[in-house]
Amino acid sequence: MDFSAQSNISFIKQKIGDLEKITDQDNPYTRIVFSKKFYEARSWLKNEYQKLGLIVSTDDAGNLIGLLKSKTNTEKVVIIGSHIDTVPSGGRFDGIAGVVAALCVVKHIKENDINLPFNLAVYDYLGEELNDWSISCIGTRGMIGALNNEILSRSNSSGEILKDEIDKIGGKSNLLTKPFSIIENIVACLELHIEQGKVLEQKNIDIGIVRSIPSISRFSVEVNGQAGHSGTILMDQRADALVTSSEIITFVNKLALTLAKESNQHFVSTIGKINIHPNAAAIIPGKVEMTIDLRASSKSSRDQYIKELEKQIETMNQSGPCKIKMKNIAFAPYVEMDKELVKLFKVSSDEYGFSNIIMDSGAGHDTAHLSRVAPASMIFVPCMDGLSHCPEEYAEISDVSKGTAVLFKMVEKLANSNQN
Ligand SMILES: [Zn+2]
Repeated sequence: MDFSAQSNISFIKQKIGDLEKITDQDNPYTRIVFSKKFYEARSWLKNEYQKLGLIVSTDDAGNLIGLLKSKTNTEKVVIIGSHIDTVPSGGRFDGIAGVVAALCVVKHIKENDINLPFNLAVYDYLGEELNDWSISCIGTRGMIGALNNEILSRSNSSGEILKDEIDKIGGKSNLLTKPFSIIENIVACLELHIEQGKVLEQKNIDIGIVRSIPSISRFSVEVNGQAGHSGTILMDQRADALVTSSEIITFVNKLALTLAKESNQHFVSTIGKINIHPNAAAIIPGKVEMTIDLRASSKSSRDQYIKELEKQIETMNQSGPCKIKMKNIAFAPYVEMDKELVKLFKVSSDEYGFSNIIMDSGAGHDTAHLSRVAPASMIFVPCMDGLSHCPEEYAEISDVSKGTAVLFKMVEKLANSNQN
């Protein structure tokens, strides 16, 4: 029986509905990694795996796996995964849509007794969202050996150590500094996710096929001026750190706009965090700290941005009243999705007659980490007004269902091409 998008709507709706109930009641939708609600959601997922007859396990990185073993004796594996943790007051679809889609694909395979030439594993990747330990994608970083001792030993604001939390959930934090052996056997890592942007909705397109995930850089900027009485220090005598900061904010925005247009690739830059000292109505701001978040699919645009920003800061340091310091505090490289898988996703989508485009992701994802060591690719489905990481986040179930159908088709195509 072929997999139709229409016939799976009620299953997807029900499972998303089940998970949305597992939230901090005062703060919907909140299910932060390692919290009580997170554990509750994991029990729910374990039960779902068991209902589908999957072999349940937790790997050393704390990922929760439901495995459908091939009848052929093989170590090869196709992974379909996403995440069920949320940010505080997050949404009902980010990550969740991908896990539910994976369940739906496995259900169809089981019900129709389809034999695959590889094992099929559903993954709930541990802690995808940025957390109180200042780290995202714990599970996938763990799989590729990218969690070092400094990260594992970090404490959160309650004094809990990350490695203890990983161990408590069933992982083995002492075995996370090298890539997992499963990586050698991965045929493909596939992920369905809501777009978290407006491109698909505005163009009225069903499926976004992701060709790249941008590099993410963060810079801290410190502007030092001189605090003083807002009534007595005359305008031409001031070193107002906030006024200088506002010039930087405007400069960064204009520069990013120009480079985004020029490169015709994903390029965005944001200053979303700012602290003003002393932050009082009658005092000239003496010091400002800001964080610049930069995401780029083009290395040359990124390099140019940094060069021009550094030049601007140097000029401002020489001619302006304040002293500015900028420091790179985080970096994740740009990655490309596997070209063959991108093509195959396109064919799969075309066969259903769903409209599709090849696009760059704006956000970081677990698949970005896995794509560094194994063939990986992902698809996006539209979400309302591009809203995400907020309770208003919404995707039409019929759209999630179309994406699920494409995911199934993809597994089927991989099965055909891996048949001996
Ligand atoms: Zn996500």
